[in-house]
Amino acid sequence: MTPRPRTGTLPRLGTLILALFITSVPGFASLLYTCDPTIGTTTCAAINGSSVSGIYSSIFTSSMSADIYITYGNTGVGQSSTPLTAISYSTYYNALAAHTDDPTALASLGSSGDPLGAQSDNTVSITPALANALSIHTSGANTAGIQADGATSCVLGNSGCYDGVITISNTAGAFYFPDSPTSPPPSAPPYQIDFYSVVEHETDEVLGTISCIGTRSSAAYDQCSPLGTNASPADLFRYSAAGVRSFLNAANGTSAYFSINGGVTDIADYNNSPNGQDYGDWLNLYPYLVQDGEASPDVTLDISTDVGTNGNAYPRPEVAVLNAIGYNQIVAPEPGTFGLLAAGFVSFAVFGKRLRGKL
Ligand SMILES: [Zn+2]
Repeated sequence: MTPRPRTGTLPRLGTLILALFITSVPGFASLLYTCDPTIGTTTCAAINGSSVSGIYSSIFTSSMSADIYITYGNTGVGQSSTPLTAISYSTYYNALAAHTDDPTALASLGSSGDPLGAQSDNTVSITPALANALSIHTSGANTAGIQADGATSCVLGNSGCYDGVITISNTAGAFYFPDSPTSPPPSAPPYQIDFYSVVEHETDEVLGTISCIGTRSSAAYDQCSPLGTNASPADLFRYSAAGVRSFLNAANGTSAYFSINGGVTDIADYNNSPNGQDYGDWLNLYPYLVQDGEASPDVTLDISTDVGTNGNAYPRPEVAVLNAIGYNQIVAPEPGTFGLLAAGFVSFAVFGKRLRGKL
Protein backbone atom coordinates (compact mmCIF):
# COMPACT_ATOMS: atom_id res chain seq x y z
CA MET A 1 0.00 0.00 0.00
CA THR A 2 1.41 3.33 -0.94
CA PRO A 3 0.82 6.52 0.97
CA ARG A 4 -1.50 8.96 -0.66
CA PRO A 5 0.47 11.67 -2.33
CA ARG A 6 0.61 14.86 -0.38
CA THR A 7 -0.54 16.77 -3.37
CA GLY A 8 -3.83 14.94 -2.95
CA THR A 9 -4.44 16.07 0.62
CA LEU A 10 -3.27 19.64 0.54
CA PRO A 11 -6.01 21.00 -1.70
CA ARG A 12 -8.64 19.32 0.49
CA LEU A 13 -7.14 20.79 3.61
CA GLY A 14 -7.05 24.14 1.91
CA THR A 15 -10.68 23.80 0.92
CA LEU A 16 -11.65 22.92 4.45
CA ILE A 17 -9.87 25.90 5.91
CA LEU A 18 -11.40 28.20 3.33
CA ALA A 19 -14.88 26.85 4.02
CA LEU A 20 -14.48 27.40 7.75
CA PHE A 21 -13.29 30.91 7.11
CA ILE A 22 -16.27 31.73 4.92
CA THR A 23 -18.80 30.39 7.40
CA SER A 24 -17.28 32.11 10.43
CA VAL A 25 -16.75 35.61 9.05
CA PRO A 26 -19.62 37.73 7.69
CA GLY A 27 -19.21 38.96 4.16
CA PHE A 28 -18.85 42.59 3.40
CA ALA A 29 -20.96 44.93 1.31
CA SER A 30 -20.13 44.83 -2.37
CA LEU A 31 -20.81 47.99 -4.35
CA LEU A 32 -19.38 47.81 -7.86
CA TYR A 33 -19.33 51.00 -9.90
CA THR A 34 -19.03 50.84 -13.68
CA CYS A 35 -17.67 54.18 -14.77
CA ASP A 36 -18.37 56.05 -17.95
CA PRO A 37 -15.02 56.91 -19.58
CA THR A 38 -15.56 60.58 -18.69
CA ILE A 39 -15.18 59.69 -14.99
CA GLY A 40 -11.53 58.77 -15.56
CA THR A 41 -9.63 55.75 -14.31
CA THR A 42 -8.16 57.41 -11.22
CA THR A 43 -11.49 58.65 -9.91
CA CYS A 44 -13.19 55.39 -10.85
CA ALA A 45 -10.62 53.44 -8.86
CA ALA A 46 -11.15 55.74 -5.88
CA ILE A 47 -14.94 55.26 -6.06
CA ASN A 48 -14.49 51.49 -6.17
CA GLY A 49 -11.90 51.70 -3.39
CA SER A 50 -11.59 53.55 -0.12
CA SER A 51 -13.39 56.74 -1.20
CA VAL A 52 -16.85 55.17 -1.55
CA SER A 53 -17.25 51.40 -1.99
CA GLY A 54 -14.77 50.56 0.76
CA ILE A 55 -16.68 52.73 3.22
CA TYR A 56 -19.89 50.76 2.73
CA SER A 57 -17.89 47.52 2.96
CA SER A 58 -16.50 48.65 6.30
CA ILE A 59 -20.00 49.17 7.73
CA PHE A 60 -22.40 46.71 6.06
CA THR A 61 -22.46 42.96 5.51
CA SER A 62 -22.85 41.20 2.18
CA SER A 63 -26.58 41.88 2.55
CA MET A 64 -25.64 45.02 0.60
CA SER A 65 -24.69 44.38 -3.01
CA ALA A 66 -25.26 46.57 -6.05
CA ASP A 67 -23.95 47.25 -9.54
CA ILE A 68 -24.12 50.96 -10.27
CA TYR A 69 -23.33 52.90 -13.43
CA ILE A 70 -21.86 56.37 -12.91
CA THR A 71 -21.30 59.15 -15.39
CA TYR A 72 -21.00 62.91 -15.74
CA GLY A 73 -23.92 64.72 -17.30
CA ASN A 74 -26.08 67.80 -17.49
CA THR A 75 -27.87 67.69 -14.13
CA GLY A 76 -27.99 69.37 -10.74
CA VAL A 77 -25.15 68.42 -8.42
CA GLY A 78 -26.10 64.77 -8.68
CA GLN A 79 -28.95 62.53 -9.78
CA SER A 80 -29.81 58.87 -9.45
CA SER A 81 -32.22 56.63 -11.32
CA THR A 82 -33.38 53.26 -10.09
CA PRO A 83 -36.30 50.92 -10.84
CA LEU A 84 -38.87 50.41 -8.07
CA THR A 85 -41.07 47.38 -7.63
CA ALA A 86 -44.32 47.58 -5.69
CA ILE A 87 -44.90 44.75 -3.22
CA SER A 88 -47.38 44.29 -0.41
CA TYR A 89 -46.59 45.70 3.01
CA SER A 90 -46.80 42.22 4.53
CA THR A 91 -44.23 40.89 2.06
CA TYR A 92 -41.83 43.67 3.02
CA TYR A 93 -42.48 43.35 6.75
CA ASN A 94 -42.08 39.58 6.85
CA ALA A 95 -38.86 39.72 4.82
CA LEU A 96 -37.50 42.45 7.07
CA ALA A 97 -38.46 40.49 10.17
CA ALA A 98 -36.57 37.48 8.81
CA HIS A 99 -33.42 39.41 7.98
CA THR A 100 -32.99 42.53 10.07
CA ASP A 101 -30.39 43.11 12.75
CA ASP A 102 -32.24 46.26 13.87
CA PRO A 103 -35.01 44.97 16.18
CA THR A 104 -35.85 48.46 17.42
CA ALA A 105 -36.71 49.64 13.91
CA LEU A 106 -38.66 46.46 13.17
CA ALA A 107 -40.68 46.79 16.37
CA SER A 108 -41.70 50.31 15.34
CA LEU A 109 -43.43 48.88 12.27
CA GLY A 110 -45.39 46.09 13.88
CA SER A 111 -46.91 43.06 12.21
CA SER A 112 -50.54 44.14 12.20
CA GLY A 113 -50.56 45.90 8.84
CA ASP A 114 -49.21 48.97 7.09
CA PRO A 115 -48.48 51.47 9.87
CA LEU A 116 -49.27 54.32 7.48
CA GLY A 117 -52.87 53.14 7.56
CA ALA A 118 -55.20 55.05 5.27
CA GLN A 119 -52.32 57.28 4.11
CA SER A 120 -50.99 54.40 2.02
CA ASP A 121 -52.48 51.52 0.05
CA ASN A 122 -50.58 48.75 1.83
CA THR A 123 -47.96 48.80 -0.89
CA VAL A 124 -44.22 49.36 -0.50
CA SER A 125 -41.98 50.28 -3.44
CA ILE A 126 -38.49 48.86 -3.11
CA THR A 127 -35.26 49.12 -5.05
CA PRO A 128 -33.67 45.98 -6.54
CA ALA A 129 -30.70 46.25 -4.17
CA LEU A 130 -32.96 46.21 -1.13
CA ALA A 131 -35.10 43.40 -2.56
CA ASN A 132 -31.90 41.43 -2.99
CA ALA A 133 -30.80 42.17 0.57
CA LEU A 134 -34.12 40.90 1.90
CA SER A 135 -34.43 37.97 -0.55
CA ILE A 136 -37.65 39.41 -1.96
CA HIS A 137 -38.08 37.86 -5.40
CA THR A 138 -41.74 38.82 -5.82
CA SER A 139 -42.52 40.24 -9.26
CA GLY A 140 -38.82 40.23 -10.07
CA ALA A 141 -38.22 42.92 -7.45
CA ASN A 142 -34.60 41.87 -7.05
CA THR A 143 -33.83 41.66 -10.77
CA ALA A 144 -35.48 44.82 -12.15
CA GLY A 145 -32.57 46.74 -13.64
CA ILE A 146 -31.71 49.86 -15.55
CA GLN A 147 -29.29 50.41 -18.42
CA ALA A 148 -26.76 53.21 -18.71
CA ASP A 149 -29.05 55.03 -21.14
CA GLY A 150 -31.94 54.92 -18.65
CA ALA A 151 -33.90 52.09 -20.26
CA THR A 152 -35.50 49.98 -17.52
CA SER A 153 -36.39 46.76 -19.30
CA CYS A 154 -33.23 44.83 -18.44
CA VAL A 155 -32.80 42.00 -15.96
CA LEU A 156 -30.03 42.22 -13.38
CA GLY A 157 -27.29 39.71 -13.91
CA ASN A 158 -27.09 40.51 -17.60
CA SER A 159 -24.26 42.62 -18.98
CA GLY A 160 -25.03 46.33 -19.06
CA CYS A 161 -27.87 46.08 -16.52
CA TYR A 162 -27.51 47.95 -13.23
CA ASP A 163 -29.27 48.56 -9.92
CA GLY A 164 -29.07 52.26 -10.60
CA VAL A 165 -27.51 54.98 -12.71
CA ILE A 166 -25.80 57.94 -11.06
CA THR A 167 -25.18 61.16 -12.97
CA ILE A 168 -22.86 63.78 -11.49
CA SER A 169 -22.87 67.37 -12.73
CA ASN A 170 -20.46 68.02 -15.58
CA THR A 171 -20.02 71.66 -14.56
CA ALA A 172 -16.30 72.37 -14.82
CA GLY A 173 -14.57 72.89 -11.48
CA ALA A 174 -17.66 72.05 -9.40
CA PHE A 175 -15.94 69.41 -7.28
CA TYR A 176 -12.87 68.61 -5.25
CA PHE A 177 -11.68 65.07 -4.64
CA PRO A 178 -10.51 64.55 -1.04
CA ASP A 179 -7.80 61.97 -0.44
CA SER A 180 -9.85 60.47 2.41
CA PRO A 181 -13.22 61.02 4.13
CA THR A 182 -11.44 63.14 6.71
CA SER A 183 -9.38 65.25 4.34
CA PRO A 184 -10.25 68.94 4.69
CA PRO A 185 -11.68 70.89 1.76
CA PRO A 186 -9.50 73.33 -0.17
CA SER A 187 -8.56 76.20 2.11
CA ALA A 188 -9.28 78.96 -0.37
CA PRO A 189 -11.99 79.74 -2.92
CA PRO A 190 -13.37 78.69 -5.31
CA TYR A 191 -15.73 76.79 -3.08
CA GLN A 192 -16.20 73.29 -4.36
CA ILE A 193 -18.26 70.24 -3.44
CA ASP A 194 -16.84 66.96 -2.14
CA PHE A 195 -17.31 64.72 -5.20
CA TYR A 196 -17.38 61.49 -3.23
CA SER A 197 -20.04 62.76 -0.80
CA VAL A 198 -22.33 63.29 -3.79
CA VAL A 199 -21.60 59.77 -5.02
CA GLU A 200 -22.51 58.49 -1.55
CA HIS A 201 -25.71 60.56 -1.53
CA GLU A 202 -26.87 59.13 -4.83
CA THR A 203 -25.71 55.64 -3.85
CA ASP A 204 -27.90 55.76 -0.73
CA GLU A 205 -30.86 56.54 -2.97
CA VAL A 206 -30.07 53.66 -5.34
CA LEU A 207 -29.91 51.42 -2.26
CA GLY A 208 -33.30 52.67 -1.08
CA THR A 209 -33.27 55.70 1.26
CA ILE A 210 -35.73 57.49 -1.03
CA SER A 211 -39.22 58.74 -0.19
CA CYS A 212 -42.22 58.05 -2.41
CA ILE A 213 -43.32 61.63 -1.85
CA GLY A 214 -42.52 63.53 -5.03
CA THR A 215 -41.71 67.20 -5.39
CA ARG A 216 -41.87 67.85 -9.12
CA SER A 217 -44.97 70.04 -9.00
CA SER A 218 -46.03 72.65 -6.48
CA ALA A 219 -47.94 70.06 -4.49
CA ALA A 220 -46.58 66.82 -3.07
CA TYR A 221 -47.61 63.67 -4.90
CA ASP A 222 -46.79 59.95 -4.85
CA GLN A 223 -44.00 59.44 -7.36
CA CYS A 224 -43.69 55.69 -6.85
CA SER A 225 -47.08 54.92 -8.30
CA PRO A 226 -49.51 57.04 -10.27
CA LEU A 227 -52.17 54.48 -9.40
CA GLY A 228 -52.08 54.57 -5.64
CA THR A 229 -50.22 55.79 -2.62
CA ASN A 230 -47.18 53.55 -2.37
CA ALA A 231 -44.76 54.18 0.44
CA SER A 232 -41.04 53.58 0.34
CA PRO A 233 -39.45 51.57 3.14
CA ALA A 234 -37.97 54.78 4.58
CA ASP A 235 -41.43 56.39 4.57
CA LEU A 236 -42.46 53.84 7.21
CA PHE A 237 -40.03 55.52 9.63
CA ARG A 238 -41.14 59.10 8.92
CA TYR A 239 -42.76 61.03 11.80
CA SER A 240 -44.09 64.45 12.72
CA ALA A 241 -44.29 63.65 16.44
CA ALA A 242 -43.95 60.66 18.74
CA GLY A 243 -46.46 58.09 17.54
CA VAL A 244 -47.57 60.25 14.59
CA ARG A 245 -46.39 59.18 11.14
CA SER A 246 -45.93 61.75 8.41
CA PHE A 247 -46.59 61.04 4.74
CA LEU A 248 -48.28 62.65 1.75
CA ASN A 249 -50.99 64.46 3.67
CA ALA A 250 -48.42 66.26 5.80
CA ALA A 251 -45.79 66.97 3.11
CA ASN A 252 -46.50 70.65 3.21
CA GLY A 253 -43.66 72.40 4.96
CA THR A 254 -44.43 71.16 8.44
CA SER A 255 -41.69 69.16 10.11
CA ALA A 256 -40.96 65.50 9.47
CA TYR A 257 -38.08 63.40 10.71
CA PHE A 258 -36.59 59.93 10.61
CA SER A 259 -37.00 57.77 13.70
CA ILE A 260 -36.55 54.07 14.49
CA ASN A 261 -38.36 54.09 17.85
CA GLY A 262 -41.83 55.30 17.01
CA GLY A 263 -40.94 58.94 16.68
CA VAL A 264 -39.54 59.33 20.18
CA THR A 265 -36.02 60.04 18.92
CA ASP A 266 -35.58 62.49 16.05
CA ILE A 267 -32.52 61.12 14.28
CA ALA A 268 -32.51 63.70 11.48
CA ASP A 269 -35.03 66.11 9.96
CA TYR A 270 -36.38 65.44 6.48
CA ASN A 271 -37.05 68.01 3.83
CA ASN A 272 -40.84 68.13 3.94
CA SER A 273 -41.69 70.82 1.40
CA PRO A 274 -42.44 70.67 -2.35
CA ASN A 275 -39.36 72.78 -3.04
CA GLY A 276 -37.63 70.68 -5.70
CA GLN A 277 -35.48 68.83 -3.19
CA ASP A 278 -36.00 65.16 -2.44
CA TYR A 279 -38.38 64.32 0.40
CA GLY A 280 -36.02 61.49 1.30
CA ASP A 281 -33.22 64.01 1.88
CA TRP A 282 -32.43 65.90 5.07
CA LEU A 283 -33.18 69.53 5.71
CA ASN A 284 -30.03 71.57 5.36
CA LEU A 285 -29.18 72.14 9.01
CA TYR A 286 -25.75 72.41 10.56
CA PRO A 287 -23.80 70.18 10.88
CA TYR A 288 -24.16 69.24 7.24
CA LEU A 289 -24.83 65.67 6.21
CA VAL A 290 -24.31 63.50 3.12
CA GLN A 291 -28.06 63.20 2.55
CA ASP A 292 -28.84 66.93 2.77
CA GLY A 293 -31.18 68.03 0.01
CA GLU A 294 -28.68 70.62 -1.13
CA ALA A 295 -24.96 70.16 -1.51
CA SER A 296 -22.78 72.24 0.77
CA PRO A 297 -19.54 73.42 -0.84
CA ASP A 298 -16.33 73.43 1.13
CA VAL A 299 -17.12 70.58 3.50
CA THR A 300 -15.95 66.97 3.33
CA LEU A 301 -18.78 64.57 4.20
CA ASP A 302 -19.03 60.82 4.56
CA ILE A 303 -21.66 58.41 5.90
CA SER A 304 -19.15 56.82 8.28
CA THR A 305 -18.41 60.11 10.04
CA ASP A 306 -21.70 62.03 9.73
CA VAL A 307 -23.35 63.21 12.92
CA GLY A 308 -27.00 64.00 13.42
CA THR A 309 -28.96 67.22 13.64
CA ASN A 310 -31.19 68.73 16.32
CA GLY A 311 -28.54 68.77 18.98
CA ASN A 312 -28.98 65.10 19.84
CA ALA A 313 -25.90 64.18 17.82
CA TYR A 314 -27.35 60.89 16.69
CA PRO A 315 -24.43 59.36 14.84
CA ARG A 316 -24.44 58.38 11.21
CA PRO A 317 -28.08 59.00 10.26
CA GLU A 318 -27.65 57.63 6.72
CA VAL A 319 -26.32 54.39 8.17
CA ALA A 320 -29.32 54.33 10.52
CA VAL A 321 -31.75 54.61 7.57
CA LEU A 322 -30.00 51.92 5.54
CA ASN A 323 -29.91 49.67 8.61
CA ALA A 324 -33.58 50.22 9.45
CA ILE A 325 -34.89 49.46 5.96
CA GLY A 326 -33.00 46.18 5.72
CA TYR A 327 -29.21 46.33 5.32
CA ASN A 328 -27.35 44.65 8.14
CA GLN A 329 -24.22 45.93 9.80
CA ILE A 330 -21.05 43.92 10.23
CA VAL A 331 -21.18 44.18 14.01
CA ALA A 332 -24.58 42.48 14.28
CA PRO A 333 -25.57 38.83 13.65
CA GLU A 334 -27.77 37.80 10.77
CA PRO A 335 -30.80 35.56 11.41
CA GLY A 336 -32.31 33.15 8.87
CA THR A 337 -34.42 33.91 5.84
CA PHE A 338 -37.85 33.22 4.42
CA GLY A 339 -40.16 34.92 1.95
CA LEU A 340 -43.78 35.42 0.93
CA LEU A 341 -45.52 36.14 -2.34
CA ALA A 342 -47.40 39.23 -3.46
CA ALA A 343 -48.33 40.97 -6.66
CA GLY A 344 -46.41 43.99 -7.83
CA PHE A 345 -45.19 46.05 -10.71
CA VAL A 346 -42.17 48.09 -11.59
CA SER A 347 -42.09 51.85 -11.70
CA PHE A 348 -39.17 54.18 -11.97
CA ALA A 349 -37.94 57.16 -10.06
CA VAL A 350 -35.34 59.86 -10.44
CA PHE A 351 -33.89 61.69 -7.48
CA GLY A 352 -31.51 64.57 -7.43
CA LYS A 353 -29.33 66.74 -5.31
CA ARG A 354 -29.35 70.49 -5.74
CA LEU A 355 -26.71 73.06 -5.19
CA ARG A 356 -26.38 75.07 -2.01
CA GLY A 357 -24.52 78.32 -2.36
CA LYS A 358 -22.16 79.11 -5.20
CA LEU A 359 -19.94 76.79 -7.17
ZN1 LIG B 1 -31.30 63.29 -2.85
